Amino acid sequence: MSLLEIADLRVNYGEIEALKGVSLAVAQGEIVAILGANGAGKTTLMRTISGLLAPRGGTIRFDGAEITKLGADRIVQRGIAQSPEGRRVFGTLTVLENLRLGGFTRPRGEIMGSLDFVLGLFPRLAERRAQFAGTLSGGEQQMVAIGRALMAKPRLLLLDEPSLGLAPIIVQAIFRSLREIARTGVTILLVEQNARMALKLADRGYVLEVGRIVLADEAKRLLASPDIQAAYLGGE
Ligand code: ATP
Repeated sequence: MSLLEIADLRVNYGEIEALKGVSLAVAQGEIVAILGANGAGKTTLMRTISGLLAPRGGTIRFDGAEITKLGADRIVQRGIAQSPEGRRVFGTLTVLENLRLGGFTRPRGEIMGSLDFVLGLFPRLAERRAQFAGTLSGGEQQMVAIGRALMAKPRLLLLDEPSLGLAPIIVQAIFRSLREIARTGVTILLVEQNARMALKLADRGYVLEVGRIVLADEAKRLLASPDIQAAYLGGE
């Protein structure tokens, strides 16, 4: 049984059909990448899974139960946490305060273990725990955003463009941490425009084009595909 199972998901913004019947599945322990150009619907998909957007049709099932109509807070409680596009850290709060906010649905006594895990994963954040998040570099803010999502102790981590606007060396560091997170048993669904990095990390990938899944395959087969290379990997 899949951990996440999405069937015929349709999402509109007014008359605009952003998702036109998307179906996909993510198994427990998998890393799955969603590739797509600007405007393909990647962020819409993530926000709908998180309960921030209401679909017009279709179903989302998590761990065997339907969550399609649940609110965002209930979805976090079920075990899905999102690190949003553009990082969205609280700039006037410290690193530690940002991280603690991510654990708000959990009993106080339980969040210490997660905090230790996050600060171990990102030693840079441990050094800067008392610094205002707004004064961090882009890469450090991305670490805060991912760390904040991990504080909810999710079984499924949703990542929307973790590499956006970051220098290649920082992107590599972030992707190394994602592999470490996956090793602890967290399932990852990742949206990326950096298709090469995403496919090197992922087990499988889906290609989203203007609201529809047009291709699904093992990541290494997508990496080797001439069509994918031409469209998403710089035609190499
Ligand atoms: P990007 O990589 O640029 O973030 P994306 O693949 O994440 O793109 P979405 O942001 O999901 O794409 O957008 C999908 C479609 O829905 C686009 O055509 C976009 O213009 C439209 N759209 C997104 N948000 C809204 C909104 N709030 N109101 C109206 N249309 C929207």
